[in-house]
Amino acid sequence: MDNPLIIANWKMKLAPSEAHVLAKKVAKSSAKFTGAEVVVCPSFTELAAVAGIMEGSGVTVGAQNCFWEEQGAFTGEVSASQLAAHGVGTVIVGHSERRAHLGESSDMVHRKIRMLLSVGLRPVLCVGESFDDRAEGQKEVVLLRQLHDALGGLWLTDAQQLVVAYEPVWVIGSGQDVDPKEIEHTHQVIEQSLYDLFSREAVDEHVKIIYGGSVDPENVGRYVAEPSVDGVLVGTASLDATQFAAIVAGALKA
Ligand code: PEP
Repeated sequence: MDNPLIIANWKMKLAPSEAHVLAKKVAKSSAKFTGAEVVVCPSFTELAAVAGIMEGSGVTVGAQNCFWEEQGAFTGEVSASQLAAHGVGTVIVGHSERRAHLGESSDMVHRKIRMLLSVGLRPVLCVGESFDDRAEGQKEVVLLRQLHDALGGLWLTDAQQLVVAYEPVWVIGSGQDVDPKEIEHTHQVIEQSLYDLFSREAVDEHVKIIYGGSVDPENVGRYVAEPSVDGVLVGTASLDATQFAAIVAGALKA
């Protein structure tokens, strides 16, 4: 496996001062992150400050969302190029919380990814089934629909990178472990679907598939040891610098 990709999603959980303190602690631990790619995603308001704190640490800064147009009368929105100007290289799109609470549709997700790729940023497309989808045997149908809706009609050039984050909605924030074999199987299904959408070479060279859902220092090693798991997206445990550093260490050990 390439260097594991570990993305921290701080959501809207931290006051500015708390985000700065956490960023300083993460930067301090970063000497131990060699061999991993670590990205932290604070709120928009803290992007510049956190990017400054991370300078020289090797940890990069990502965003939790963006808009799909380049510029214009879109009150409250933030464009991909505005993010790039703040040193952002990676942007989460289609997180289940945005799909559930903000009506982020598949079409919006598709347009955001198209814009991000066009300005050279790396989208992190979140896909995942609900508890009911899984119980009804619809998990794979839901995942394939989300992937095709988000990525259909797009292509990847040599300069472009894409991350798909498999995040079962019923696991996010639940503290639940998932059988690593189930995660591996699902990542293989996602990979096969990506082969339908892009060339095999583009998928192998330019796409990573990571897992998110209650990742912690105990379970990360089992997850990342699976051959199709290229890294993890971490919510709750990324808010504690010690736990986050232990997650990076666990991923490196695997
Ligand atoms: C997330 O919301 O992307 C996430 C993975 O959260 P948690 O780690 O808290 O499940």
